[in-house]
Amino acid sequence: MPQAATHRSAADLVAAGLAPPERLKELEQVAARYAVGVTADLGELIDSTDRNDPIARQFIPDAAELDRQAGESADPIGDDVHSPIEGIVHRYPDRVLLKLAYVCAVYCRFCFRREMVGPGRRRALSGAALAAALAYIRARPEIWEVILTGGDPLILSARRLRAVTAALALIDHVKVVRIHTRVPIAAPALITPALGRALKAFGKATYVVLHANHARELTPAARAACARLVDAGIPMLSQSVLLRGVNDDPATLSALLRALVECRIKPYYLHHGDLAPGTAHLRTTIAQGQALVRALQGRVSGLCQPAYMLDIPGGHGKSPIGPSYIRAAPGVPEGQCFEVEDFKGGRHAYPPGSAGA
Ligand code: SF4
Repeated sequence: MPQAATHRSAADLVAAGLAPPERLKELEQVAARYAVGVTADLGELIDSTDRNDPIARQFIPDAAELDRQAGESADPIGDDVHSPIEGIVHRYPDRVLLKLAYVCAVYCRFCFRREMVGPGRRRALSGAALAAALAYIRARPEIWEVILTGGDPLILSARRLRAVTAALALIDHVKVVRIHTRVPIAAPALITPALGRALKAFGKATYVVLHANHARELTPAARAACARLVDAGIPMLSQSVLLRGVNDDPATLSALLRALVECRIKPYYLHHGDLAPGTAHLRTTIAQGQALVRALQGRVSGLCQPAYMLDIPGGHGKSPIGPSYIRAAPGVPEGQCFEVEDFKGGRHAYPPGSAGA
């Protein structure tokens, strides 16, 4: 199995100059609680002289992680209640998550699965558990889409991934295979032509969803890794997490979304930060998120617009929570006229029943 993370402990981070020696004790306390991992590629992006560097905020531990707030949960999106067998999360009728790996190339400080991923546990689903998970999918014709996730599935070898996609290719009712990953950014060299070939489930639509939160993550090497996937015929989407001090202003968010589209990656979801333990210092409020999304309207192309999503705690699934631009016109009986807002804030009447005969 490829080993991506280069800096795996507090001492590693200090030795690499990614954090000052005076923070060693603080980093060790956090590392004793949550996994630490920074690849050489991401380490090069970190400005260690700036405590507020947006890349450092995502990957360098912070003592604030030891503060657990009310409402935070070890399983903030309710994976467990929808996990009928190991490796499967079946929350929506027509799709399942297939969690192949329990490790990642890097460990993000805001991770919603931070209690479930990291060293000190099995790295990947066992052969027997994988066989049972595939049997579960095979036995349910309603499963249209399989989402490979983890951990990060692209930390697995091309040979292992090929075995999984080949098995999915043989299941008639599965039409779409979606793979969620941070590897093209964290360790772009792992995205080899052989890996790209291994990801394609023959006869199925295969998508890769890249997790990226700041335009600086899209280095020339990361862009080249994504281009290898897209050129191999794999469409790419992105998901980003709205993070305080990382991407929570319109200019930074616009730069990220534009950079993704320039890489032929369609922005898909902007996630509101989940209630993962010790992550309050990285979350915005929903009102701030809605204001940011509103600021994107008209500022960046429609191609760049992601849906702003909240994963409802308890396992109730995702809902879009972006702002609305249409409302009942004031002073008019309900349903008789709407008022719609344009991207400059202008308001315009729109009649009901205008969809034609
Ligand atoms: S790569 Fe994904 S699963 Fe892994 S630590 Fe980051 S957010 Fe969590």
